[in-house]
Amino acid sequence: FNSIPTGYPEPGKTTVYDATPTIDIDNAPLNGGFILKTLVLSIDPYMRGMMRSPETKSYSDPYFVGQPTNGLGVGVVVRSEHPDVKAGEHLYGGLTHEEYSIRKDLNGLRTIKKEHGLPWSVYVGAAGMPGMTAYMAWKEYSKAKKGDVAFVTTGGGPVGSFVIQLAKLDGMKVIASAGSDEKVKFMKDIGADVAFNYKTTSTEEILQKEGPIDVYWDNVGGEILDLALKYASVGARFIECGMISGYNGARKPIENIFLVVSKSISIQGFIIFRLEEKYRDEFYTTVPPKLAKGELKYSEEIVKGLEGIGEAMLSVQKGTNKAKVVVLVAEE
Ligand code: NDP
Repeated sequence: FNSIPTGYPEPGKTTVYDATPTIDIDNAPLNGGFILKTLVLSIDPYMRGMMRSPETKSYSDPYFVGQPTNGLGVGVVVRSEHPDVKAGEHLYGGLTHEEYSIRKDLNGLRTIKKEHGLPWSVYVGAAGMPGMTAYMAWKEYSKAKKGDVAFVTTGGGPVGSFVIQLAKLDGMKVIASAGSDEKVKFMKDIGADVAFNYKTTSTEEILQKEGPIDVYWDNVGGEILDLALKYASVGARFIECGMISGYNGARKPIENIFLVVSKSISIQGFIIFRLEEKYRDEFYTTVPPKLAKGELKYSEEIVKGLEGIGEAMLSVQKGTNKAKVVVLVAEE
């Protein structure tokens, strides 16, 4: 991490790639810890929130200038002196964006097993944190009812596309938006009843025609949240998952906020790690087999090598990504 951005992160300025080896893999002293070889890394929207001054508090730690960026990933242990960690074991959790890292303990890491023939990339996407976000918060907050109308934003991404499928499984009519025609096609393929490109089609016209909305899954905030309030039904549930339209600049004030009162709308925000404990076992039993059988669908964009991380982070913020962005750092 090289400097704190003011707008979108700039590859080469906000983050820089440094090819200098920092660890002697065979001889580095472990002092009771272990060496992890990074296999795959997830690139997620929340990373923009970590590119901030260390004085500003948030739910996640900030990135520190001069230190490697980090995020969720899967790695394999190559050498260990730790009593609970064996060489060859795979771990999922917070990894620094390095090919190898020395860890002193399992803090923030959990053992993970590759099952059902799924590749590791899926374990940081639909079978990882973004999938958990959709699955757990939908279960906890949607109060899904057959025949209800759901509106899902960023429907081409890992969270939104999972939510579309959950809402369909619950017998709802699904309206879904995304910022490219390719993502619109994917949303139709996974069952959205109405899928549209919010950059080329009026969201207001779609909601006016296809609403009112009973459940709004918000990934964007801003103007679209305002419109969702306008076209919400009485008693609608708003699940506030993210507000990416405000991550790289000013947040737009919500003009229609009083409709929360007049339409008796409930608004539920959440951060996934507070739900994980409750649903983790159920998630891993249920979701990976369904993904493997194609009963739940996912789409991913694989970026090869750590040098692509800066561009990958930018693409997720701008929406130039095609699907869930995963960096493939190494094969086994
Ligand atoms: P995606 O991979 O879908 O990437 C984010 C997408 O946001 C972009 O691809 C882009 O898609 C869209 N976007 C960017 N800028 C705007 C804008 N100004 N207006 C509308 N859409 C925009 O992300 P995820 O599926 O991983 O995450 C989706 C949301 O879920 C994010 O808001 C994220 O912060 C949130 N989240 C929240 C969690 C929680 O615990 N609450 C956990 C995980 C994710 P498009 O082409 O559609 O514009």
